[in-house]
Formats: sequence, structure tokens, C-alpha cells
Amino acid sequence: MTLRIDRVRVWLALLLGAMPFVTAGPALLAEEKSDSTETDAWRQDRERMVQRQIVRRGVEDERVLKAMRAAPRHHFVPEPRRRFAYDDRPLPIGYGQTISQPFIVAYMTEAIEPRSDFRVLEIGAGSGYQAAVLAEIVSEVYTIEIVRPLAEWAKERLAAADYGNVVVKHGDGYHGWSDHAPFDAIVVTAAAPHIPPPLIDQLRDGGRMIIPVGSPHLTQQLVMVEKDGEDVRTRNLMPVRFVPLTRTDE
Ligand code: SAH
Repeated sequence: MTLRIDRVRVWLALLLGAMPFVTAGPALLAEEKSDSTETDAWRQDRERMVQRQIVRRGVEDERVLKAMRAAPRHHFVPEPRRRFAYDDRPLPIGYGQTISQPFIVAYMTEAIEPRSDFRVLEIGAGSGYQAAVLAEIVSEVYTIEIVRPLAEWAKERLAAADYGNVVVKHGDGYHGWSDHAPFDAIVVTAAAPHIPPPLIDQLRDGGRMIIPVGSPHLTQQLVMVEKDGEDVRTRNLMPVRFVPLTRTDE
């Protein structure tokens, strides 16, 4: 009996002794992957994300797929969650906010039918990732973020990744950004109780806006808004859950 316990002890000691060697490989990989710079490992994760989460669910626009392959999502996800950057889900980015699920980012980008000459307004810069995806395709992106430290994070991350065609502003996006209006498209990434009239005003004739509408704690509808002169058409695309559009002046 004692012999058996001793044997177990010996095996246990050997196993524990060997541990550092066994884990050296994966530990190094995790360290490499926790860095925000681009590596082959991140590129592979991203390619897998595009195939499994985006192409398989029906996103077809080549410009959008190319943008999703190019924009370094991990660069916009703060630690300690960076290693999950290419998972099929939203992730917390601090201040009670989230970076949207990759599929939703691709879906919303495809829905506005972006073109290279577009000027796009985003409400809710958050991590800066959706702005980066848009900036891969269109010529100018203006994005507004109500949480100051997030606005600073997005600005710094976008600059560090050389997205020179994105301008980030801290403020309440409900009012849009009239200095740069009209916009060819508007992407709202926080759920509003109703479609903000200033955003409709700042949409160009023939432009498209995509916006989650509904109550913060229930399922919302992702709504497509198409402006045709005085005529504003809306259509529900799918049920979604976004963080709420908050207001500074309420
Ligand atoms: N597009 C972001 C998603 C962020 S979640 C990304 O790619 O990471 C939505 C963001 O909208 C949050 O950061 C939240 O702070 C911001 N937000 C909420 N209400 C807002 C408002 N009225 N104006 C501007 N930003 C707002």
C-alpha cells in the first residue's frame, strides 16, 4: 500500500516537474497572441472567422469580406479578452460596453451597400473596430462616442493601425455631425428607442441608415432606413441585442 502511494507521489512529482516544459509551447503562443500587433497566428484566426462566421452565414459582398479579412479585430479588443477577438460573439470593452459580434459588423456593413467614394457616419465608436471595417472600404468615416475614455481608445487604436480616413469625436451621436453632413450612409451601433430625426436629416437623398431600434433590455429590431426625398422608408431586417443609445441631455 505505502509502496503504491509512493509510486503515485513519484509519478506526480515527475508530472509536475515536466509541466513547465509541457506548457512552454502553448504559453509562448498565448503571449504572442495577446499582443496587438499583426502575426500569422492572428491572420489565421481571422481567416477562419471570415469563413465560418461570415461567409457561411451568407455575407457575399467581396468588398466586405476583404475588409473583414484586413481589419485587425484583436487590435481593437482590450486585454484581458484579446485572445477571444475572433470568437463568434460580442466581447466586453469596459464601461459596460461591447464590441459587436463579427457577423453583425459584416452584416451591417454589407447592408449599407458601401462604395469607395462614400462618406459614412457611425454612432457609437466603442472599440473603433466597426469604423476600421468601414474605413477599409469607404473614403471617409466620422464616428461619435459618448464615453470619453472609449472615444480616446478608438482614436488611439485607429491611428496606431494607420486608419487615417477616420475621424473620432467624443459626444452624443443622437444629434449626428452636421458639419460633415450629408452622409451617404449612417451606421448606428447602439439601440435607440426611436430613429433620431437629426440622423434622417443628415442622410443624403438616396442614402441608407442601419439602426437597432427598441428597448435596451428586450430584443430589438435592426432597421434599414432608406431616404428618398421626403419619403423615408423603414424595414425590419432581424432581431438583435445592442447596448442602449444613451443621452447626455436627458
Ligand atoms: N461600433 C462599436 C460598438 C460599440 S457598442 C465597435 O465596433 O466596437 C455601442 C457604443 O455606443 C458604446 O461604446 C456606447 O458607449 C456608445 N454610445 C451609446 N450611446 C451613444 C450616443 N448617444 N452617442 C454616441 N455613442 C453612444
